[in-house]
Amino acid sequence: MWIVRGLKKGVITGRYPEEVREEELPPYVPAEAPRKCPFGAVRKGRLDLSACLYCGLCNVGFERRTEMSRIENPLTFRRSLHVFFLDVGTCHLCNREVSLLTGPHYDIHRLGIFFVPTPKHADVLLVAGCPTEEMVPVLREAYELMPEPKRVVVMGSCAQGAICRSRVEDHVPVDGYIDGCPPSPISVMDGLLKVAGRSER
Ligand code: SF4
Ligand code: SF4
Repeated sequence: MWIVRGLKKGVITGRYPEEVREEELPPYVPAEAPRKCPFGAVRKGRLDLSACLYCGLCNVGFERRTEMSRIENPLTFRRSLHVFFLDVGTCHLCNREVSLLTGPHYDIHRLGIFFVPTPKHADVLLVAGCPTEEMVPVLREAYELMPEPKRVVVMGSCAQGAICRSRVEDHVPVDGYIDGCPPSPISVMDGLLKVAGRSER
C-alpha cells in the first residue's frame, strides 16, 4: 500500500536552488531599524540582522529578506561537501531546522552535501548556539581535528552574539554566517552551497 500512496503523492522534494517555493523562503525581517530593540539588534542606529531574533516586537513593518547567508572565504568543492554539525548551546530550534535538511522535502544529499559523525571527516564545521563554558573546549577540539582545507560556518543569531555574550568567532576562526533565529533550512542550504563555492546567488 505504501508504494501506491507514494506514487499518488508524486515527488515532494523541492527544487532549490533552481526553484524556490514561496513557503520555503526564510522569514520576514524588519524593513528598517527600529528606535529601540529589547535584544540589542540596533547598534549605532543601524539594524544588525545577525543579532535580530525576528520576534516582531519592534513592529516597524517587515519585508522579505534577500540575503540568507554571508560567506567570506569559500572553498571550491564542485562535487561533495562533508559537514559536521555542532551544538554549542542552542535552544534546539536550530537543530530541528538542520534535521529537516536530510528529509524528503529538502533532501540535501541530492546536492552532494552530507553530514558526517566526526569532525575528522568534515570540510565544514557548522556551529549553532551560544558557546557555553563546557562546550568551548569541545568547539576548539572539533576545529583542531578537522583536516585542511576547513571552514567554519555559524548559524543563528545567538551564535553571533545575540542574547548571549559569547560568540563562536571568539573561540575559533569563522568563515561564514547564516542569519536567522532559527535560520530556515533554505538559508542553511544557501550557506552550505556558498561555502562549497557552488552558489551564484
Ligand atoms: S524583530 Fe525583535 S529582535 Fe529584531 S529588531 Fe525588532 S524587536 Fe529587535
Ligand atoms: S539562533 Fe535562535 S533558534 Fe537558533 S539556537 Fe539560537 S536562540 Fe535558538
